[in-house]
Amino acid sequence: MKILLSNALIVTLNDRNDVIDKGAIVIDGNRITYCGPAEGTPAGPFDKIIDASRMIALPGMINAHCHSAANLVRGMMPSKPLEIWRAYYRASLRDMREDDFYASALLGGMEMLKNGATTVLDHFAGSAACRFMGAGAAIQAMRDLGLRHIAALTVTDKNYEDTIPLGNADSKLNNEIRRMSASEAKTTQAWLDECEEFIETFHAPEKLTTACPGPSAVQRCTDELLSGCAEISRKKNLPLHIHLAETKAQQVQGNSIYGHSLLRHLETLGIVGENLSCAHSIWIDDGDIELFAQRGATPVHNPASNLRIGSGLARVKEFLAAGVNVGLGTDGAASNDSQNMFDAVRLAALIHNQAGSDFNQWVTPAQALAMATRNGARAFGLDAGVIALGKLADIVLLRRDSAAYRPMNDVVNQIVFCENGSNVDTVIVNGEVVVQAGRLTKVDEEEVLRMAERSRQRLEPSMQRELAAARSMEPALAEMYFRVFRKS
Ligand SMILES: [Zn+2]
Repeated sequence: MKILLSNALIVTLNDRNDVIDKGAIVIDGNRITYCGPAEGTPAGPFDKIIDASRMIALPGMINAHCHSAANLVRGMMPSKPLEIWRAYYRASLRDMREDDFYASALLGGMEMLKNGATTVLDHFAGSAACRFMGAGAAIQAMRDLGLRHIAALTVTDKNYEDTIPLGNADSKLNNEIRRMSASEAKTTQAWLDECEEFIETFHAPEKLTTACPGPSAVQRCTDELLSGCAEISRKKNLPLHIHLAETKAQQVQGNSIYGHSLLRHLETLGIVGENLSCAHSIWIDDGDIELFAQRGATPVHNPASNLRIGSGLARVKEFLAAGVNVGLGTDGAASNDSQNMFDAVRLAALIHNQAGSDFNQWVTPAQALAMATRNGARAFGLDAGVIALGKLADIVLLRRDSAAYRPMNDVVNQIVFCENGSNVDTVIVNGEVVVQAGRLTKVDEEEVLRMAERSRQRLEPSMQRELAAARSMEPALAEMYFRVFRKS
């Protein structure tokens, strides 16, 4: 399939941030074979010509951290600190089955595509009752939608009570503490075998799937598991994705287990490199920022989630000043109920402009947009995130005849500050049009909504039961939260 996009206002997001007015893009198969002024357009014939004279062409955005299993509980989780929030969220997953994971991933994936994201990293954690925790169903959903995805299988081999600084609160927690661990009761070797098998089964870039290991968090894994996952990634040339220092409690626990920061611990294991991406990376020290810069690893910023459950303000300005490659994500719908990357971009460009801080370091709109595109591509080793010759054809067309872009003063600033996704017209992934006139082309949108509704209804009794059980953990976890902050 050869496609010509003609007369577009092209925001290339290349290193020079070139913007081409009335430009042309030619797609041959799944690659961009021309991007430049109209007069240089190679001769046809083309299978499809899209008149983009009223459009802005933007590289498809890369949602660099998300949990596809969370979409059925959007709007449902309490705005409480992560450790409390997580007890509820984990409880909500317990009874989910393959078709629920499929419906959930379909719902979130639909929302992402219709709002200009063409790739998502799904840090998948589901139910121990399903094969690969249900990750296969999520992968199928994203393939059906035509959404490129990095499926990072979440693994963890430590007991729950060893992963957070419970102190004396430990004894006040009831059976729930064992249930939090029970779902994770698998030997280290069994987890590593599962990871290898998972990748063997699903890794297929031609089907839009990159499969890789996704250790849950440093403090939730033994050194053997962390090193084993890193070895699998190294051997197969794959990304490695992990949660890092999302909360102060995690930082405290890291210091108490390792005697230094969580990232420093990964460094002692020799696994901080260009293929490592670390969701959140909030409670870190100056040495960690240097380490990210030196090793070329990527922290992934999730501004809406960090605000929703009060995790803290990531040191994005300092990352950028140090030349660190920062990615951007929505996180799952349990902690950011919307999966719209334009929200993430706008927040990233706004929340770091704090009064009294050095305004020369505030995040620029161009930096925020780079985080959402080329930086994510670099983190995952994807040849995408930029509209340029030879890159994967993942492109979004935004309607410019709307209030957001009139008058057209600065296209990048207006994408960042004025766009909310409502102007997304066409989305192309891997050379295929998957959204046309704002609607999915490969999947029936009404059916997606019906499936999500059906799954949620089926899960209602068990969710109510499990959430009530999780509530019993809250006092002890709250005590830990306040203790951790009192100490500083
Ligand atoms: Zn997460």
